[in-house]
Amino acid sequence: MPKDETSYNAQILMRAGFIDKVGAGIYTFLPLGLRVLNKISNIVREEMNAIGGQELLMPGLTPKEVWETTGRWETFDALFRLAGSDKREYALGATHEEIIVPLAKKHIFSYKELPLYLYQVQTKFRNELRAKAGLIRGREFLMKDLYSFHADEADLNEYYKVAQKAYFKIFERVGLLNTTYLTFASGGAFSKYSHEFQTVTQAGEDTIHICDDCQLAINAEIIEEQKSCPNCGRTDLRVTTAVETGNIFKLRTKFSAPFNLAYKDAKGEQKIIEMGCYGIGPSRIMGTVVEVHHDERGLVWPEEIAPFKAHLIRLIGGDEEKVGQAADKLHTDLLAAGIETLYDDRAGKMAGEKFIEADLIGCPYRLVMSEKTVKEGSVEIKGRNSQKIELVKLNKIIERLK
Ligand SMILES: [Zn+2]
Repeated sequence: MPKDETSYNAQILMRAGFIDKVGAGIYTFLPLGLRVLNKISNIVREEMNAIGGQELLMPGLTPKEVWETTGRWETFDALFRLAGSDKREYALGATHEEIIVPLAKKHIFSYKELPLYLYQVQTKFRNELRAKAGLIRGREFLMKDLYSFHADEADLNEYYKVAQKAYFKIFERVGLLNTTYLTFASGGAFSKYSHEFQTVTQAGEDTIHICDDCQLAINAEIIEEQKSCPNCGRTDLRVTTAVETGNIFKLRTKFSAPFNLAYKDAKGEQKIIEMGCYGIGPSRIMGTVVEVHHDERGLVWPEEIAPFKAHLIRLIGGDEEKVGQAADKLHTDLLAAGIETLYDDRAGKMAGEKFIEADLIGCPYRLVMSEKTVKEGSVEIKGRNSQKIELVKLNKIIERLK
């Protein structure tokens, strides 16, 4: 295990060749890791597009002036502040209300342009003191942030519920649905609560109180003000640790007012726009999935975000040319059928070593071609989560994997 890394998710991802550590909370995504990260990001994109989101890309480098407008140049603790050679100051984007609100002001004038939903999937920077949780709390991380713009509070409230449902679809697709709870958290000045999505794992940095009847939770930070389930009133809540894997806020006019982001209603009156924001971090999701889905042998990826669906191993021994040709052909056939396959055709590695690595990497299906399987016109298949090894005829394997 890498010595200076204390989190399980980063340790195992480094050992399995998914990421490389550059510094505390700073990682390179290697080819295997980037495949997983891109799959998670694309699931998030699909679910945001399905609720009307339009993707854009804002800069990571942002001028001091916009942060002064909202007062956050002084108050945002984890903001990376830096000086440019033009003697002006900048911040590395930690969140993007300060960029998107002035942008919206250039495009929204009338109620006819509302509602509007804009999002990005972008690298964010936070000057975290404690960057010891691997991908769960990075100094640089990938984030999807969606911002919604509404004519009134009722419209914001309606979309807020739509976004909650979309978030649960994301958690279902990345394999975290059963361990993730909608959690009441502090709302700040503009609403009683915000909502977090908290995923239960020992690696969590937060404490939540779960109502098992309602599948809701309360963040420990507000348990003194909210001691019972907000839905059913139950008070014997289950206390556990969890990771905040998403959050949604009714911003109301917190950021639209300082920038005077307004529109003309049907009567021609100027009104301040109501806003919501909705965050979820693909890199943090990846770290959390690793904490939730692993065993003593390594990673166990949920199928939709696995780097590859199949891990094809070619064994040495016997008639190597014949086995090699059969394995190469199977690899070509799998790719042609659209089945993403990692092919271990390395010579000089023993079967045991290849099996250990396949378990560590954690693709859903392991396929083995050996002299024995070639003789039978078959390939051996084993699920990562299963002990059962089966021989499947070569002409049936694609159907089986589809
Ligand atoms: Zn309840």
